[in-house]
Amino acid sequence: MCSVTHVAAGALIGGLVDSHLYAFLIGFASHIPLDAIPHIDFEDFRIDAVMSVALLGAIFAFSGFSPVFVGALGAVVPDFENLLWKTGIISEKSKIFPTHSGLIKHGKARVGSGPATEILLSAFSVAMVVLAMMIGGGH
Ligand SMILES: [Zn+2]
Repeated sequence: MCSVTHVAAGALIGGLVDSHLYAFLIGFASHIPLDAIPHIDFEDFRIDAVMSVALLGAIFAFSGFSPVFVGALGAVVPDFENLLWKTGIISEKSKIFPTHSGLIKHGKARVGSGPATEILLSAFSVAMVVLAMMIGGGH
């Protein structure tokens, strides 16, 4: 799953649970099923990374250190090792998260058909984050 979608799903989880700890833990755990289902990935991982950081920053700007923010952070943090791998800092074998290391089968990922898919995915993710903040923002 692309990172920006993990951010959005984690934000939504954080909006639903009124606890920083549970938001982080459930967000973190949500990374596995979201990686395991078939999905579309960004053509350029750098755009995904920038979008994810921007979205996290926006959540923090609007809701501070809230469960929404912590949930989003927990959900996307496993992809940090993917970023290290894609940028050549760590090797394929160094990855430890189960859906990245191959312990749990990663869902069939296909690259989106260009910018339209990526804009749509990003817009959908932003919409989920807005929804999350409406549900649980300001805690
Ligand atoms: Zn992942």
